[in-house]
Amino acid sequence: MNFIDEENINSLINDKSLHDEKHQWEIIVKAKEAKGVSLKEAAALLNITSQEILEEMFSAAKEIKEKIYGNRLVIFAPLYLTNLCVNNCLYCAFRVDNKELERKSLTVDDAEAEARALVQQGQKRLLLVCGEHPKKSSTKFIGEVIERIYSINEDGNNIRRINVNMAPLSVEGFRELKSFDIGTYQIFQETYHYDTYKIMHPSGPKSDYDWRVTAIERALEAGIDDVGIGSLFGLAEYKFETLALLSHAFHLENKFGVGPHTISVPRLEPALNAPAALQPPHAVDDLSFKKIIAVLRLAVPYTGIILSTRERAELRRELFAVGVSQISAGSKTAPGSYKESRESANEAKFEQFQLGDHRSLDEIVKDCCDLGYLPSFCTACYRSNRTGDRFMALAKTGDIGKICVPNALTTFHEYLVDYAGEQTRITGQEFLKEQLAKESDTVRNKTENLIHRIDEGERDIYF
Ligand code: SAM
Ligand code: SF4
Repeated sequence: MNFIDEENINSLINDKSLHDEKHQWEIIVKAKEAKGVSLKEAAALLNITSQEILEEMFSAAKEIKEKIYGNRLVIFAPLYLTNLCVNNCLYCAFRVDNKELERKSLTVDDAEAEARALVQQGQKRLLLVCGEHPKKSSTKFIGEVIERIYSINEDGNNIRRINVNMAPLSVEGFRELKSFDIGTYQIFQETYHYDTYKIMHPSGPKSDYDWRVTAIERALEAGIDDVGIGSLFGLAEYKFETLALLSHAFHLENKFGVGPHTISVPRLEPALNAPAALQPPHAVDDLSFKKIIAVLRLAVPYTGIILSTRERAELRRELFAVGVSQISAGSKTAPGSYKESRESANEAKFEQFQLGDHRSLDEIVKDCCDLGYLPSFCTACYRSNRTGDRFMALAKTGDIGKICVPNALTTFHEYLVDYAGEQTRITGQEFLKEQLAKESDTVRNKTENLIHRIDEGERDIYF
């Protein structure tokens, strides 16, 4: 597709003038204004090798993230509906040719049981994920699942936002998906590099690069406001992939007036009988991965960056500091795992890929507080219709913080009261007090009022 201009991206990667350290430094200084950087400037940032300049970029990424999102980290969990798939992605255990995988598909009742298990951990946001299958992940079925999950109510606790990561649809299909009241529609291009894409997707509907790369446009045309993009790092050269991701984001912004709501940065993990996952063709080391996230934060300051439990706990801690705004926690990548809680050897027969961070939600919440990040379970924007360009307008004026802080602190308090283990509750309450003390009188009063109402037994209250 012409908005992924491979020739231009390659010429930027090969442009020797973009290794100039003075220029790289100037770009970082300019990026601190949180107005983004151009594709060419992003290419220069990806070339940084000097330790000193790298550190400066990491601290700029942290500064920009804090300016826009404060110290909040929004938390969610994936819910897998089926591991049946008609595609043959060489990096995924769900691929149709993998005869070693045990196949499992959830019914609507099973999906409800999974969602209840997540509600009982304290989760409020889900990401529905599935293999591509005409029956087991049809749009109609997804609709039934969503309706059922939204109907769960356990003493005021419920799933309040359901995002979806599923195969591309037609505009009509996306209209149907939108009618189920989804939050974000998310789809990863996996690799924007055409020839690599063709090798990695040898058969099935996913082998059509163009149909996939234009999916987000169809979703936006169908009226889905919040869309998420991503690429699977490790398949093609990381500088190419990062610049292509940014080209996609800039294109959406130009064409629709609003860029992606989120960018995900999945990195290849080992997966059962999946050759490209076991030997990634362009494995990305941890430092380069950190650099990718920081460059994205500088380039598209208002776009959420999602970091999943694919990464190890200690690396996640480090990456939170360079601009991540949403994280998954307590995740499983096999259908039915939250309810069944299989032994790890058995789980490996069902799961999509191996995870790096196996900690529970409660452990992650406590760890976030220890590190100075506020875990947020807030879903208020989407439920108050602050999506798409309305969200971006608020974010860009800085006014979003006045809404987000009370909502984040209130949902965090709700978590502490209803679900936290003892240690997390003690640490969390102390942390909450410190956070409140930092706010203006207006924000503090607004928040204390909501917190008081939670203590009186109300749930799910927000601005
Ligand atoms: N089947 C749909 C699709 O491929 O678009 C829905 C999402 S798929 C279940 C979720 C995502 O998992 C894929 O888009 C891919 O980026 C990621 N994934 C697949 N294999 C992976 C692996 N070995 N390591 C890390 N992520 C992987
Ligand atoms: Fe199927 Fe998605 Fe896995 Fe590809 S990545 S095999 S489409 S589940």
